[in-house]
Amino acid sequence: MTEPTRSRLLVLAGPTAVGKGTVAARVRETHPDVWLSVSVTTRPPRHTEVDGDHYHFVSDAEFDQMIADGELLEWAVVHKTARYGTPRRPVEEALAAGKAAMLEIDLQGARQVRETMPEALFVFLKPPSWEELVRRLVGRGTESAEDRERRLETAREELAAESWFDVTVVNAEVNDAVAELVSLLGAATGAATP
Ligand code: 5GP
Repeated sequence: MTEPTRSRLLVLAGPTAVGKGTVAARVRETHPDVWLSVSVTTRPPRHTEVDGDHYHFVSDAEFDQMIADGELLEWAVVHKTARYGTPRRPVEEALAAGKAAMLEIDLQGARQVRETMPEALFVFLKPPSWEELVRRLVGRGTESAEDRERRLETAREELAAESWFDVTVVNAEVNDAVAELVSLLGAATGAATP
């Protein structure tokens, strides 16, 4: 691994079903000093999700308004179903307060953030192998065969984006991936501590 550029903002992206959500949730549990962005989304909450905690759940009209008011740092339609976006102000405030901050977003969003915040560190979360990614996707058991095919096709394209990123972290073991991310952020946290 090459020495990454130091930044207080880490953008985590990667293919569908690689486990980004799980990794981000584990960072949240184990490293409360890392500030994690809470996205807005137009998709309905799952029964385990709490508004304002996992996401801010908003209507289409509210999302439109946030775009119109320039409140989103980036936004995208994900899996052709719902819109997801990162509220700009909380990110700016966290960085201004010297915190180490992390966004867990999709590839389209990562590309947009690089336009406005090129100094961020872009991290690609990668499955240990293609077979493992297929296993994780199929293992969910929630998608139809057709939907699965579509997601695999997307995943194939997404995997090809790896070279665009500054750093790759392989998600073989969640705890190891978290340790790597925290160490990438550690430079920032250390630098920010008086
Ligand atoms: P889920 O609906 O399973 O929570 O998330 C679906 C996808 O949306 C994930 O790939 C996740 O990375 C992406 N996502 C979550 N929040 C954002 C966001 O604020 N912006 C973008 N561009 N993608 C997001």
